[in-house]
Amino acid sequence: MLAQAADDVASTMVPPEGAEKYAFEAEVHRMMDIVVNSLYQNKDVFLRELISNASDALDKFRYLALTEPDTYKGEEEIPLQVKIQYDADEHTLTIRDTGVGMTHDEMVENLGTVARSGTTKFIQSLKESGNDDSAMSQIGQFGVGFYSTFLVADRVTVASKNPRDDAQHVWESENASSSFVVYPDPRGNTLGRGTEITLHLKEDSLEYADPNRLRELAQHYSEFVMHPISLRTTSTMEVEIEDEEEEATPETTEEAKETKGDDGDDEIEVGDDESETEEKPKKTKEVTTHSWDVLNTNQAIWTREKEDISDDEYQAFWQVLAHEATSNATSWSHFNAEGNINFKSILYLPDDLPPTYSYTNMEPVQGALRLYVRKVLIGDEFNLLPKYLGFIRGVVDSDDLPLNVNRETLQESKILSVIKKKLVRKAIEMIRQLAKDSEDEGQSEAEIDEEGNVIETEEKDSRYIAFYRKFSPNIKLGVVEDEPNRGKLMKLLRFQTSKSDGKMISLAAYFDNMKEWQEEIYVLGGASAEEIEKSPFLETFRDKDVEVIYLTDSIDEYMLRQVRDHEKKKFVQISSESVKFKDEDEDLIKRREKAYKNTFKPLTKWLRKLYTGSILRVQVARRSLGSVPAIVTSSDFGNSANMERILRAQAFQHGMDQSSFLALKVFELNPRHPLVKKLLDGCPPEEEGDEPFEVAPDILDAAWMLHDMAMLNGGFPISDPEAHNQRLLKVLRAQFSLDSLDLEPEIDPPVEEDEAPEIDFTSDGINMEDFDLDSLNLDDLDMGA
Ligand code: ADP
Ligand code: MG
Repeated sequence: MLAQAADDVASTMVPPEGAEKYAFEAEVHRMMDIVVNSLYQNKDVFLRELISNASDALDKFRYLALTEPDTYKGEEEIPLQVKIQYDADEHTLTIRDTGVGMTHDEMVENLGTVARSGTTKFIQSLKESGNDDSAMSQIGQFGVGFYSTFLVADRVTVASKNPRDDAQHVWESENASSSFVVYPDPRGNTLGRGTEITLHLKEDSLEYADPNRLRELAQHYSEFVMHPISLRTTSTMEVEIEDEEEEATPETTEEAKETKGDDGDDEIEVGDDESETEEKPKKTKEVTTHSWDVLNTNQAIWTREKEDISDDEYQAFWQVLAHEATSNATSWSHFNAEGNINFKSILYLPDDLPPTYSYTNMEPVQGALRLYVRKVLIGDEFNLLPKYLGFIRGVVDSDDLPLNVNRETLQESKILSVIKKKLVRKAIEMIRQLAKDSEDEGQSEAEIDEEGNVIETEEKDSRYIAFYRKFSPNIKLGVVEDEPNRGKLMKLLRFQTSKSDGKMISLAAYFDNMKEWQEEIYVLGGASAEEIEKSPFLETFRDKDVEVIYLTDSIDEYMLRQVRDHEKKKFVQISSESVKFKDEDEDLIKRREKAYKNTFKPLTKWLRKLYTGSILRVQVARRSLGSVPAIVTSSDFGNSANMERILRAQAFQHGMDQSSFLALKVFELNPRHPLVKKLLDGCPPEEEGDEPFEVAPDILDAAWMLHDMAMLNGGFPISDPEAHNQRLLKVLRAQFSLDSLDLEPEIDPPVEEDEAPEIDFTSDGINMEDFDLDSLNLDDLDMGA
């Protein structure tokens, strides 16, 4: 061998006696166990994770060197780079970076003794997915990407040198055993600075010691890394040698092709076997050359011209930002902000939420927006966008920010707050654009098959609606919290309505459909569109062909209470008492109201007393109730039935008193209903003073049954189901003319020889479908959900 062998790798190192042994944190060990024994096919992810860690470490070093120049003096002489090399004979793969490296203690902590917050969640997600490959490929999103090395290696050796630690240390673990060892590197400080990870490949993963495979993968994963990443390649060629120069040094100009980032350490080996051919007297020999091929161009994509970037490239960059190979970006916005403060940015709308995102607290996605200053990564923890937009990923790069101030100072900087404001506007604009671009999508188009038959295709959501179904809670939170942008955000809202045929429409579309006389935006809340559809409140609106917006999200009513109106029209719950139609003759209405009020005074007075504790007020309905005899509505200051249901569920969850939600209801009578007339006839006359009334028992029962029915009509639960049942039983008993409801004596049948005949429960006259279970509002029983 002429030249030195490739850099020493830790392939043959044996832990010295006295190496410190550490136990993996229990969850970490559990996860490694799953990873090592997994049957996942897409093992490639390990390389993505290692390259991403190397790139992170390089970014970290560059930032530190700028902000703490004293600590890192002299370090800048070591070039920032990543090198990948394999040894097909030893079955090893080594990834070396000149990043910040790890001190002894950091190694112990970061690589095993401290569980990262995503560890448990990752295990959970693996379990839930069964053997689904996509779950494993998301490992980086849970902050445990390093452990993906155990997909392909049964032994992993990490050597690392951090400038703050005098010595280089080695970390090693085998076959996901429950422990790892750490010891001073017997080779000394071979790295100068950074980290070297050596994978001892499993038998079934030897493909990763193949140059073509490695080149393809590494090229793919390093496309957007801004530090040079090179692969050590080996090529062998025959060269002629002159007779005289027996063992001459071959020309060192025989570089392998494509060598861009030559840093001068190419080596050349000459094979031993010299071959001679019969015909020609010339001697040849095999020469093996090694070179480092740089795989990436390391030009920051956001600094390039939009026109030169393909959709595939944007998507590929999204994959890098999202740590994930399973879902694409829905859309993106690449822009140059110019003005007092200049910056470049690419923002992405995701197809899907990352598995760690939670609607409950809407904590921004980790590392969602990366902040660069002149292409130097400063960090990704700046929360450049408000919480409700925390699902947007991207990069921001500004020349106007100072490079050498610490993160805290930067966080406070005026420039950053200007950038933030602009980003919010751009982000909202990007969502609006998606809505606009996908306006014409999603209509069901009839297709014609080969035989000429027309087939109705399933209606598909437009891209915007698909996005909206996942992210509407965010937009709604934005409407509530971001007042300056409220108007713009409200234009992004979509609702199902009584006339939209199951589709989601915008407020603008609702306005287009409004009646000329209509001065209010009518809404009705409920657990689902199906439930709302059954509400008696809708009857009149259907008759008048007036559109009603359905509020099916628990945040909807809360949101509309905050905003109150849109384009000068008020939102009005059609279940509240004050709904009036402006298309009717007001004089006539007033006269009618007055007349009804007087006629029904005895009844309203009596019922008001009877329903104390459940109902705030009893009155003749000022609007048509259709075929319903009575309905319970919320007073203008009370909660709608849907809101009450939500609040009650919350109170139940938090062990709070529920009674506070039960007041402020209005009982409205339908003056044209015969049952109500009947009650009026049977109720006690209006009297002075407060003496108790004497009332026939069946009238009293009827009054209570009407109460319960009205509660259900309004979407409220019955307050005393037991009493309600007793009254129903009484009615049934009267209907069947039964003298009593005492049980029959227990039967005592004789013992039979034959097998007992099978009882057919289904054919026995009881048909569950005869019962209208839905109207019992079963949701209220399931309050813990
Ligand atoms: P993440 O990269 O999301 O933090 P990983 O499991 O990939 O999670 O890595 C765990 C930690 O190990 C990193 O946060 C980092 O502190 C450390 N680490 C991993 N690889 C390197 C490296 N090449 N250089 C320096 N530190 C590293
Ligand atoms: Mg990582």
